[in-house]
Order: sequence, then structure tokens, then C-alpha cells
Amino acid sequence: MNRHVAVCSSLFATLLLSACLSTEGDGAAALSSVVESAQSEDVSAGTDSKNEARLSAATDVFKAVSISDTELQAVTLQVVTEMDNTNQVAPATDKKYAKRLVRLTRNLANEDGLELNFKVYITDEINAFATADGSIRVYSGLMDLLDDNELRSVIGHEIGHVKLGHSLAEARTAYLTSAAAKVAASEGGLGAKALAELGEKLINAQFSQAQESESDAYGVEFMKRHKHKLSAAESAMRKLANLEGSESGSKLFSSHPGAKERADKIHELIATKKK
Ligand SMILES: [Zn+2]
Repeated sequence: MNRHVAVCSSLFATLLLSACLSTEGDGAAALSSVVESAQSEDVSAGTDSKNEARLSAATDVFKAVSISDTELQAVTLQVVTEMDNTNQVAPATDKKYAKRLVRLTRNLANEDGLELNFKVYITDEINAFATADGSIRVYSGLMDLLDDNELRSVIGHEIGHVKLGHSLAEARTAYLTSAAAKVAASEGGLGAKALAELGEKLINAQFSQAQESESDAYGVEFMKRHKHKLSAAESAMRKLANLEGSESGSKLFSSHPGAKERADKIHELIATKKK
């Protein structure tokens, strides 16, 4: 079986930076392409109702540009709820995964000012992700690979993406581009399809190398705050690095190296924390 490895919406995909580096830039581009599309359609003459649909979609993009953080968080909560419905969630009674995750996250319901909720998706994929509303999803494939402290460090890293605003910025880009895509489809509202599309974007979010480094540092700080073994943050990254280029590593690994370098950086960081 080909295992798809993409921790943290691609723990390793740090070199493909285009998606989330500049929210404003993407917004302006999406907006102008929508406006152009709406204008050109006026000339090439569709039916009135078609034009209305396009204008309504363009209005959605204007709304997307001005969507508040709170509104965006409500959207990501909707997206995660939809993903929970379509993925195999480990039931609360499941000892191997669900109960283990409950044990590991016992004191994290309100962590660093964030309200968090956790679930396990049963799949061989080695992955975990967090969304701006504070939902954290851990894949059973990752839980099989890592010990308790290593998993805690990945969870800390994911919390970092939320706390540091990366997840929100990513959601804004995803929402914006998906609203823009609606122009072509002339669909209205955020139906199941749009939510699924957004979910796909959020799971495959590409964070920048700088954002990953920041979250790595946050993860180490998280481990320190909770008095867990700091070296677990490094060993988790080494385990993931070892999968690079392997059969189970998937395409992401071959095209986006970096886990080893990050493990080295975490090693140095931990050394300074111990002083
Ligand atoms: Zn990350």
C-alpha cells in the first residue's frame, strides 16, 4: 500500500511556498480575475440569469476579501465537520487510537488561550492537521509511527500553526480561491461540494519554511511548558525524515526535502532551552 505522508498538511512541503505567502496578493489577483471574468461575460453574452449568477459569485469574492477572522473560523468549523462526516473517525470507545489521543490531550481543551478539539481519523496516511477554529485531527498512521511524547510534540506543532495565525491565513487563501472557483461553476452558497473542496485545500495547505520553523519552535516551547521530554520533538522529526524517499514517503518527500534539516534545527533549539 502506498502511504501518503503529509504531516501538518505537509510537514515537508516547505519549499512550495506560493499558496500562502501572501494572502493579500492572492486576494487581489482572485478578485481582479473574477471582475474580468464577469466583465468579459457581459460582452460575450450569456443569458441574463447566467450573468446574474456570475455577478453573485463575484459578490461572494468581495465578501471573501472582507470576511472577518471570526467568520472564517466558523467556515473552517463547517469544513471540519464535513470532513468528520466523510472520514472514518475513531469512536470514543476505541482504545488503540481514540482513548490514547484523549489521554495525550487531556489538559489541552483550553490551551494557550485556544479552545481545542481532537479526533482521530483511521487511515494509513501519516498526517495530522489543525484548522483555524481549533480543531486538530490526527491520523492513525501517524499514531502508529510515533510514541506518546513524539505525538505530543506534533500536536504542539499543530497548535502552533493555529496560535501563530498560519491556519487562519491559509483558510483565508483557501476560501478566497474557492469562492473565485465558484464563478466558473456559477454555484451559490457553501454546499457540501464547496466544503469538501475547502477541506482538501486546508489538508493540503502549504506552509512556508518560516512558518514551519516557527511552529517547530512553538512545539518545543509547548513540550517545555507541559514538562514533556523535549528530545521527542527531535526524534519525531527524525522518524519522519527517515521516511523521506522511501516507498511510504509518497511524492511529497521526493520533491520537498527538509525534515532532516528541521530535526537538526530542533536539536540546536533544544540545546539552548536546556541551558
Ligand atoms: Zn507544520
